[in-house]
Amino acid sequence: MEGKYRRRSSEPSDLLKRIREFTRALVEDLSNGRSPVISIHRFSNYCTNPNAICCCSYDLPKGREILTFQRESHVHRIDVLLRVLLIVQKLLQENKHGSKRDIYYMHPAVFSEQSVVDRAINEICILLQCSRHNLNVVSVGKGLVMGWLRFSESEKKFDCINRPSIAHPIPVHVEEVKGFTFNSKPADIVSVAQYILVVEKETVFERLANDQFCNKNRCIVITGRGYPDIPTRRFLRLLIDTLRLPTYCLVDCDPYGFDILATYRFGSMQMAYDAKLLRIPEMNWLGAFPSDSEKYNLPNQCLLPLTAEDKRKSEAILLRCYLQREVPKWRLELELMLQRGVKFEIEALSARVLSFLSAEYIPSKIQGGIYL
Ligand SMILES: [Zn+2]
Repeated sequence: MEGKYRRRSSEPSDLLKRIREFTRALVEDLSNGRSPVISIHRFSNYCTNPNAICCCSYDLPKGREILTFQRESHVHRIDVLLRVLLIVQKLLQENKHGSKRDIYYMHPAVFSEQSVVDRAINEICILLQCSRHNLNVVSVGKGLVMGWLRFSESEKKFDCINRPSIAHPIPVHVEEVKGFTFNSKPADIVSVAQYILVVEKETVFERLANDQFCNKNRCIVITGRGYPDIPTRRFLRLLIDTLRLPTYCLVDCDPYGFDILATYRFGSMQMAYDAKLLRIPEMNWLGAFPSDSEKYNLPNQCLLPLTAEDKRKSEAILLRCYLQREVPKWRLELELMLQRGVKFEIEALSARVLSFLSAEYIPSKIQGGIYL
């Protein structure tokens, strides 16, 4: 653990200056016959020692990794890092945006796979002490939103209030999301919603849209379509910070659903350096709980046995220190899932009555305060 760690300005001109300083130091080392050393802080948002008193924090690095020219694997990583850094520098200089995929296709033979580029982008964010969007690297965007909300992104207007059950793509440039301009003055994001509901899957989102869920319930519904991407999490963070609404999450009752829920609340390990801006500590778990199968009398054929992979994943998740520290009740439910050895999808709740989720399950849980 290192005490002094402060985020620095992420203005493009400051980032370009830091890129120049970084490369100048490398060139100086090389021209003076010294072997350059690149030191990258390491971040992790949890450890796997739930019984120890740990000090996992969201904003402090845990040690550092040293890349040198002495190791062959490091030489390749430095090559990748510098190539990606050069692309990022160009994006910033030209004030253009590119996707991780665009970057991959600049040197596919060197990068060999997307994850190599992704790691380099994360390392650059850590070196320059900024977020990914500050590098002008954006995702294609896969999240959806509907409900009692009105906002704009640059010139685009999203008037969800007019037709609250119509899906809109979540904007990629979240820093440009504002309210509508009124009398040429920008206004705040407008919402008359009472809560935000996040659903894991697009199929469930569509079910709610078909049931006109948002016409009958004053809320905003969001899906990240599986593991949420950065724009979805930043957009959600913006809505919660601006509107201060309670937020609930509905996921499948299986270890993947649980992991997605944990990603919303605590952030992901790969982006741990930015967890402070991406995590949603306000997130409540609405369901589906392992105990829901009995409570709502699920047909037996909807309960599937946990596979060996499911069990391995659940056991690994149970070790994460933040569960014990911050949401011990979530952890107990995951333990219960493992004990019972069965899983089920959210859709299984609608096995008897198609509109059960929207007409009964979600409203009764929110009104009755049945969430964790
Ligand atoms: Zn820990």
